[in-house]
Amino acid sequence: MAEETIFSKIIRKEIPADILYQDDMVTAFRDINPRAPSHILIIPNKLIPTVNDVEADDEMMLGRLFTVARKLAEQEGVSEDGYRLIMNCNPHGGQEVYHIHMHLLGGRPLGPMLVG
Ligand code: AMP
Repeated sequence: MAEETIFSKIIRKEIPADILYQDDMVTAFRDINPRAPSHILIIPNKLIPTVNDVEADDEMMLGRLFTVARKLAEQEGVSEDGYRLIMNCNPHGGQEVYHIHMHLLGGRPLGPMLVG
């Protein structure tokens, strides 16, 4: 059984977060340490520790991350200029929280590569 992270508490609203969107499959909230004017994390409500743990049954739920990203990018006003979606995996990928999450970054030119 995977160990819960702080993100499970955010999903259940047990600790405060700036939640921008939530439905039965995903939750999106502002990153506490923003690396761009818009820095949002979009996560599945189901605890999946890393991309290595993704299964075929998760496909619909993970597809939802993209439709929510598209909507939030529009809402943030970054769609036209552009933005970046990132998912880090394990230490070499720079993953810190072991509950998969898509970073949505935008609002400034992000340069050729990577989050922080
Ligand atoms: P990663 O390095 O891809 O695992 O990213 C984890 C992200 O979670 C970092 O950008 C953190 O700033 C962010 N983060 C950690 N704790 C919180 C929190 N309580 N609320 C919002 N974002 C958080």
